[in-house]
Amino acid sequence: MSYVDEVYERVVAQNPAQPEFHQAVREVLDSLRPVIERNEEKYRKEALLERMTTPERAILFRVPWVDDKGQVQVNNGYRVQFNSAIGPYKGGLRLHPSVNLGIIKFLGFEQVFKNSLTGTPIGGGKGGSDFDPKGKSDREVMAFCQSFMTELYRHVGADVDVPAGDIGTGAREIGFLYGQYKRITGKYEGVLTGKGLTYGGSLARTEATGYGLLYITQEMLKSNGIELAGKTVAISGAGNVAIYAAQKAEQLGAKVVTVSDSTGWIYDPEGIDIALLKDVKEVRRARLTEYAKARSNAVYHEGRGVFTVKCDVALPCATQNELQLDDAKALVANGCIAVCEGANMPTTQEATEYLMSNGVFFVPGKAANAGGVATSALEMSQNSMRLSWTFEEVDAKLHDIMVNIFKNIDAAAKEYGVPGNYVAGANIAGFLKVATAMEAQGVV
Ligand code: NDP
Repeated sequence: MSYVDEVYERVVAQNPAQPEFHQAVREVLDSLRPVIERNEEKYRKEALLERMTTPERAILFRVPWVDDKGQVQVNNGYRVQFNSAIGPYKGGLRLHPSVNLGIIKFLGFEQVFKNSLTGTPIGGGKGGSDFDPKGKSDREVMAFCQSFMTELYRHVGADVDVPAGDIGTGAREIGFLYGQYKRITGKYEGVLTGKGLTYGGSLARTEATGYGLLYITQEMLKSNGIELAGKTVAISGAGNVAIYAAQKAEQLGAKVVTVSDSTGWIYDPEGIDIALLKDVKEVRRARLTEYAKARSNAVYHEGRGVFTVKCDVALPCATQNELQLDDAKALVANGCIAVCEGANMPTTQEATEYLMSNGVFFVPGKAANAGGVATSALEMSQNSMRLSWTFEEVDAKLHDIMVNIFKNIDAAAKEYGVPGNYVAGANIAGFLKVATAMEAQGVV
């Protein structure tokens, strides 16, 4: 049996009931075959893949807090510190009822390669809780965040592990978490990113993932001789990534015709009204039905189906495994030319294979959405230097980083004999840097 298959079997056997983690490992290992096969004996002797697929540390903890009725609630807290070969652990905190150890491990594993691709010195980690901030009062969210940080603070630090936002963790939650860290440790340091602008946050961090997604999409299309301007774009999600992806797409001359949330989706053939979308989602924190009420041309559809519309480019920006085989078939049938992932692993493996085998350009999340964490690394730099760059400075650095990521994944795909396969390119480019650092640091 090949070394890759051996390691995959070991991961499945040792991590039962963690399908998302298995899926992420399978996808990465499969595309690393050309690299591993060139060095199979050496990597096997070093147990490099066993080490890479095993987190350095996984911390599980109790998060008790008191709700507005005086009832004590208990949630599960997680922080998986996956790999610190190239820098302190870095990765977001997800607050969503679906969170479990397997999901945090899949996200942490992906983060290692993504962070490597950014070209900034950060390792990979991820954390979160099954706490659902939806429908909670600000006081309840604060009580949860303070309790969460009361355990987490001992495991993180500006040079140790620097968490950030993710699904359910926005500016409000980061503020509460930061306040509690400072209160417990007495340290004013860049322990979290995504902070508010008045206390160490970076300009353009809010926009970074969505903007970065469009920068890399534009660069990828350009390298294939295609203009983004004038294209019709289908976006899923209506959160941080989706909103700023839609905004940048419009700025670059494309027309965004869809957004979605966990209950349904909007088709707005004249182009999504970004100001209205922001008002509904960022200010009122309401459902997309409110968007449809305010726009006579927009149609609201209940449930799935956001990728059944005619579009040139699809940008899944909501959550894992949302773009499935039926969606991929609809996209191909409708003439879609490119899918670039704003969310983490939003496309199932069979949908990815279908898209790629039908000639659709496909840029995986670990490259396409790396703009968020890259800008978090820029926030860390500004915190260490005790200064703040302007929006334009950060945006220009983000643009350069995304262009470089594309160049690196494109070059890696070509070097290993799979030109145009950006999934393989991203995994190979991300892997090689981490592998080289791990080998240099010995058996740790
Ligand atoms: P948000 O919480 O801001 O938004 C998530 C959006 O996805 C919401 O519109 C939400 O709907 C929708 N959604 C969530 N779960 C589901 C589900 N099960 N089915 C359908 N829709 C769902 O998160 P972000 O925009 O920050 O993150 C989106 C994705 O991007 C995630 O995969 C995240 O890991 C990834 N990502 C985020 C980065 C960032 O900087 N924010 C960086 C890199 C990756 P509703 O409005 O109903 O809640």
